Amino acid sequence: MKILVAGAGPAGLYFSYLAKRQHPGWQVRVVEQNPPDSTFGFGVVFSDRALEFLRADDPHTYDAITPQMEIWTDLRVEHRGTPVVIDGIGFASIGRLKFLQLMQRRLASVGVAAEFQKAISSTEELKGYDLVVAADGANSFVRKSGDFGTTVTPLTNKFAWFGTTKIFPTLTQTFVSNGHGSFNAHHYRHSPQMSTFVFECDAATWERAGFAAMNEKSTLEYCEGVFARTLEGHRLVSNKSVWRNFPNVRNSRWRAGNVVLIGDALRTAHFSIGSGTRLAMEDAIALTKSLFEFKNDLPEALAAFEAGRRPIVEKLVAAADASAQWYERFPQHMKLAPRDFAWSYIQRSGRIDPARLRKISPKFVDG
Ligand SMILES: Cc1cc2nc3c(=O)[nH]c(=O)nc-3n(C[C@H](O)[C@H](O)[C@H](O)COP(=O)(O)OP(=O)(O)OC[C@H]3O[C@@H](n4cnc5c(N)ncnc54)[C@H](O)[C@@H]3O)c2cc1C
Repeated sequence: MKILVAGAGPAGLYFSYLAKRQHPGWQVRVVEQNPPDSTFGFGVVFSDRALEFLRADDPHTYDAITPQMEIWTDLRVEHRGTPVVIDGIGFASIGRLKFLQLMQRRLASVGVAAEFQKAISSTEELKGYDLVVAADGANSFVRKSGDFGTTVTPLTNKFAWFGTTKIFPTLTQTFVSNGHGSFNAHHYRHSPQMSTFVFECDAATWERAGFAAMNEKSTLEYCEGVFARTLEGHRLVSNKSVWRNFPNVRNSRWRAGNVVLIGDALRTAHFSIGSGTRLAMEDAIALTKSLFEFKNDLPEALAAFEAGRRPIVEKLVAAADASAQWYERFPQHMKLAPRDFAWSYIQRSGRIDPARLRKISPKFVDG
């Protein structure tokens, strides 16, 4: 089998690694537009039990990545300057670049070197392969080359993905207001030296703050001013940290001919549930399993991939959408007192009902 994988993000790297590991005779070509040492953003979190989902099937990758992760067991929601601790909601984090470089090494261990700084920019380049895997992210070029019934719906909130040298003890959601409106930061350490700091506000606040007319320096200074208490003198760091509206990508068809979508090219899941990278990796696992099962029948393999994975993805996407909608209205939620606000926050995705929350977070519920 001759396979083209577009994009060397988590989905493309992990799929290529698994496919080549399972089928050393397959030709796997991975093409990535960026250099190997560059990425957008800072860290990513994995919710629940971190990388446990790949421990059984892929202990080598699990062992390579897990020691590099920052791990904590509580979550903090800070509103009106009052931190509320929600016990038992654990996350693990890692720098996105570090994670990608570890995955590049895993890929090299099965004899595949991704081709970097090469953007796929014409449909001609997709010809001559048995299978084309579109792992080229939310703005996928490959997806645009076929008919997948794609919709891309931008959320109204604005966000920018920063880093900072302030090291936070745990994942914290901080909410503050000033004369322009209300702001939220998702912040957590992703290495012993750096934390991720995602800054978010509603569109009206963004307009009133005058961000449209600010350069990078004034933007950073404004954002640092809003979260001065949280940052305690530390600076924000930019890495292609442009203002964005989160795009909700959905596809009614997951495959067209010999092209299949995985990762963010297939669907995005709002970053507030910290699941996009895991979903991308689970797509890769499911696709390689189907290809293995239906070795001699590609259409059957792709159909099985979609049939098996769609219900799982739809459930998670529903939770991500509910969470995103909570964030779209966070200034209204801020009318609640800190503890009620934290209660509203933790139930936002509809995945944790009060009975389950009592089991997971007894101290918080008692409080
Ligand atoms: C602010 C923010 C915070 C997030 N936080 C988290 C988090 O905490 N936890 C989590 O799990 N997820 C998080 N995510 C989501 C996560 O980043 C994505 O879900 C994940 O990266 C998807 O992986 P992917 O490989 O499908 O796509 P990507 O990571 O986007 O990778 C796609 C790759 O394809 C390349 N590419 C694009 N076009 C072309 C082309 N034409 N030719 C060649 N290469 C191309 C790109 O350069 C890129 O390297 C966050 C996202 C955002 C925006």
